[in-house]
Amino acid sequence: MKKVLMLFIVLLGIAFILSGCSDNAANEIKIGIVSDIHGNPDAEKLKGADFILIAGDYANVTLDIEPYAKLGIPVYVIPGNHETKEDYYNEIEDMHERYLPVIDIHGKAVDLPGFNIVGLGGYYDKDYIVENGFLLNDSDYENAREMLFSFMSQDEPIIFLTHSPPFSDTKMDYVPNVGNVGDKKIADLMNDNQLSNIINVCGHIHEGKGISAEYKSGYSINSATITELITIKK
Ligand SMILES: [Zn+2]
Repeated sequence: MKKVLMLFIVLLGIAFILSGCSDNAANEIKIGIVSDIHGNPDAEKLKGADFILIAGDYANVTLDIEPYAKLGIPVYVIPGNHETKEDYYNEIEDMHERYLPVIDIHGKAVDLPGFNIVGLGGYYDKDYIVENGFLLNDSDYENAREMLFSFMSQDEPIIFLTHSPPFSDTKMDYVPNVGNVGDKKIADLMNDNQLSNIINVCGHIHEGKGISAEYKSGYSINSATITELITIKK
């Protein structure tokens, strides 16, 4: 209960900061953030969201994403370290035919009114990637940087959806007895002095769920195993 309360306070704090203390609903976006569903979807909680972001790790891609797709709002998804490319793309394509709002955003970007989304699923450590999974390479990070940079002139929030948290000095990416295991190349992007206004939604490290961290170019929120609504200002 204490953890839930802490999570609520953290998310409320982030929403408050990002909203710039404004209560002008027209300028606000309600985002459902979800990650590491692992067979426990909770779509009811996200009714009223403008769209949903799912940051990877499904027990079964279709079964975990479908309840959110049925809400009829856009659902932007990326793979984690547990999906094979074949399963992920086949099932997303199948779902996209049945529920138009399901959109794969791994290695892609969307330019929306008032904000933008950039996606980078997969993981950097091959020891945690399934065979034929999404192992990230240098060109994936470079591609993400180019997409983030391309939006800078718009002066709008950029939601950067990643499976791994960036490396941090907080509990967000901390695994007991192991240490901080976040992605250093994603941290480089979050600290890139040519980038700004970035809201990174990530998952993967269950121990760091609900924890956020601050970087030079914006904030990160670890949504591993949680389903929450956050509000940002356009
Ligand atoms: Zn993971």
